Amino acid sequence: MDTELDRRTALAALLSWQEAMGATAAVGDTAIDWLSRADLAPGAAFDLAALSGAMPEPGSEPSPQMFSANAAATTLSPGFKPVPKSAVTVSAPPIRSPRPLSPISAATAVKARSLSELEAELSAFEGCSLKSTAKSLCLFRGAAKARLMIVGDAPGREDDLEGKPFAGRGGQLLDKILAAIGITTDQVHITNAVYWRPPGNRAPTPAETVACAPFMVRQIELVEPDVLMVLGGVAAKQILDAQESITGIRGHWFETISKSRTIRTMPSHHPTYLLQTPLAKRQAWRDFLAVKDALSR
Ligand code: URA
Repeated sequence: MDTELDRRTALAALLSWQEAMGATAAVGDTAIDWLSRADLAPGAAFDLAALSGAMPEPGSEPSPQMFSANAAATTLSPGFKPVPKSAVTVSAPPIRSPRPLSPISAATAVKARSLSELEAELSAFEGCSLKSTAKSLCLFRGAAKARLMIVGDAPGREDDLEGKPFAGRGGQLLDKILAAIGITTDQVHITNAVYWRPPGNRAPTPAETVACAPFMVRQIELVEPDVLMVLGGVAAKQILDAQESITGIRGHWFETISKSRTIRTMPSHHPTYLLQTPLAKRQAWRDFLAVKDALSR
């Protein structure tokens, strides 16, 4: 952190993240990594002093004990040293291209010279069966051009009603996470692997995602992001052609080729999954910090 103001801003972001995660009441003056005492028997002596300093400085790299399954051992070790940043956040990036264009819609998508033309082409497109049951086309929300582009899985009920992606609870959580890394909703381009809500919020079929894929390829070209985040298994399959589950690949950098540009791409947990699985929030936070770091370069 450079200045006192930066420090205060980072602290406010950290507090707002904690509030979003449900930590709404203060129970003491010292921040405690409660997960690190998971192996202590109820009532066992607990050395607060040994744990002070276990939480990260605002804006600093999160310490391994926040994420380690074997947290207690590292937290209390007197010789503990933070793992170097490169070892924590960056792994050798496998290079993967977006999946091939599907012949049915490639010719249509490739013509769009702007997002409004893309929207018009999607409105006229009859190659994705989701369109017939959805109320609205959900193309994107946020900035038309953005350094950060986020691709989720599929619109849900609220999104379909509002005609824009991530309008429901998952979207509210996503906005809070973004705010915590200093990104406002008008600085990011948010979209989905498919543009219409699947009936009953079921997962899109491979045929439905393949039909939308060429539009996504063009959308990425038009937005020209420096960093892509793919949130959820459907998005990871569409953008990265991932064979593994999102849990297996999240937190690792990939590269997406868009025209002649290489875009750093980070898969992470889907916000709806985070609402249901509080423990995964620590991993997601780490992924978003890695994205923040990549954007700051
Ligand atoms: N809403 C979206 O727009 N996308 C998702 O993946 C989930 C909810």
